[in-house]
Amino acid sequence: MAQYGSDSYLQCAKLPMKSVTLHQPPLDELADVLQDALAKNFKAASVKVSDCPDLSQPPFNLSSPGLGGQSTLLDIGSATYLTPVAHRNKIYDLKDIAHTIGLEPTFIIGAGLGPWPHTKVNCEMIADLTIKDNGISNQTRIAHIVNEKCQLDQLPASETRCMILINLFCSKGQNAKVLEVKCKGRTGQDDIISCMRQAIQNKYKDKLIGLGGTFLLSESKAKQHIMPDFSDIPLDTPQAVQNWIKFYQQHPPLVAVGTFVSTDPGLDLKVQHFHGINSSGEGGHFYTDTQPELATYIGYFAIGEILHKIDQP
Ligand SMILES: [Zn+2]
Repeated sequence: MAQYGSDSYLQCAKLPMKSVTLHQPPLDELADVLQDALAKNFKAASVKVSDCPDLSQPPFNLSSPGLGGQSTLLDIGSATYLTPVAHRNKIYDLKDIAHTIGLEPTFIIGAGLGPWPHTKVNCEMIADLTIKDNGISNQTRIAHIVNEKCQLDQLPASETRCMILINLFCSKGQNAKVLEVKCKGRTGQDDIISCMRQAIQNKYKDKLIGLGGTFLLSESKAKQHIMPDFSDIPLDTPQAVQNWIKFYQQHPPLVAVGTFVSTDPGLDLKVQHFHGINSSGEGGHFYTDTQPELATYIGYFAIGEILHKIDQP
């Protein structure tokens, strides 16, 4: 294990990368599509085009205020690097990636695996960092399991690595028009993100549309998972993976960050991926609310201009 030192990572410039220009329908059209779908899945739903509130303020407390400017989705690595045995060498550095693809300054949010060489244990990463003027404001949290419970830590500014499978939304962090999504009282089976993603796929078919952003879930607990440390026993069936992952009901209010895309045009994309944290020291990979009649969401999502797939198997 010594070969994966405190500063090692795979250089982005040497990794395969595919870039796709994303389809960008008018935001007001997208708002109508989302509102129609959410209204069928929630007691109350409204979606409108609005200015982005200052996301650096409560309740979101992110590292930059807005989601605008050079909006980019990054899908790095692959789920196939996690099973049956984790590829511990699949370590990437977000500062290196941002620099290599010309994303500086940049505000990065999203979901993936955190830097195992830093924590010495597999962890969920709730990415939130701003790279600007050679400085880094790193509010990225990592969640791992200690004595069966979640431990949530913040990464230092110097630790900008991630691993194996990561989905990120990058922008200049500027104010720009976004979709404001409000919904309450889930009546359908779909989680909020699946509902939005399927609605966009149904409307725009094989056109690739990608969004990223953040939402606040209040009033309901959330089903989230945290992966234990990498398994020594090969995880060679979906059931083995399900048995390995630990599921939790985590408390509201929960702030989640991530991305979703309408379809996968053969790039091995993870079509939706959000991680959330709360102020009680809990965090993980978001599935859905667990008290649907109470669940109350407010989210801000921006549309991506381009998607980069990095290190596709
Ligand atoms: Zn995840």
